Amino acid sequence: MKKSFLTCILFVFIGNSAFMQASSQNDGKIVFNNDDVVFRQIDEHTWVGSGNQMFQESLYLVEGNDKAILIDAGTNIKNLDKIVASITDKPVTLVATHVHPDHTGPSINCFPEIWINPGDTVLIPSLMGNYRGAVNYLYDGEILNLGGRQLEVVFSPGHTPGSTTFIDKTAGYGFSGDSFGSSLLLLTVDFSTFITTCEKISAIMEAEKINYLYPGHYNNYNEETLVKLKDMVSLSRSVLSGDINGFPNPDDTFGLRLAVDGDGYRIIYNENAVK
Ligand SMILES: [Zn+2]
Repeated sequence: MKKSFLTCILFVFIGNSAFMQASSQNDGKIVFNNDDVVFRQIDEHTWVGSGNQMFQESLYLVEGNDKAILIDAGTNIKNLDKIVASITDKPVTLVATHVHPDHTGPSINCFPEIWINPGDTVLIPSLMGNYRGAVNYLYDGEILNLGGRQLEVVFSPGHTPGSTTFIDKTAGYGFSGDSFGSSLLLLTVDFSTFITTCEKISAIMEAEKINYLYPGHYNNYNEETLVKLKDMVSLSRSVLSGDINGFPNPDDTFGLRLAVDGDGYRIIYNENAVK
């Protein structure tokens, strides 16, 4: 199951490579580099790790004065705990944007605990069943206090039932995993739920002047923007109203049989999402 899932996701990403901007160097200073992952600096206390197995699956290390949070753990990055400890001297807590194997792969076993949205509990048996540590649950609206820096937990279901976005209001950015799909959104819940998510996150972005969200497959160009989220709302409404009908998903993968294209991105879904 896990392997076929990985294959599906990889195939989907490659199959729609026209929708991915050319991957490139990230300008940030490299602070760690091995065969599994490259970590680059985003700012003085924030780093992005890029794995190489699932279209640059992204991990984010966010450091405060007292603690650090690692958002996602990639597909299979050996000794991830030691790697992040070489970047920050703060104790690191692992949280996940969602339970998919390119974000909560075997490397989660480097950590004694993981914090997830309870909505993704349904995915644990098939996708995270080998985790030996403790699974803890985040709350919607919860503030993660890192000491002089805060991340707000905002549930953003759509890609999975328990997808989650983490917002740093002071920094003016957030981390949304695959909630808005990087360039390709695999929608596994219904469009109505996804519209609610887009509107909820858009409202926060507008009110708090959040400039962009770092996605789960970051290539240095594909931050999620307010403009994109609003486009996703109008596209999703058009699908629900029947004004736009999906075409057959060219890759026909992961039980997602239909596709619609927005401005620079694609959403794939199945019939049950239109309700
Ligand atoms: Zn995912």
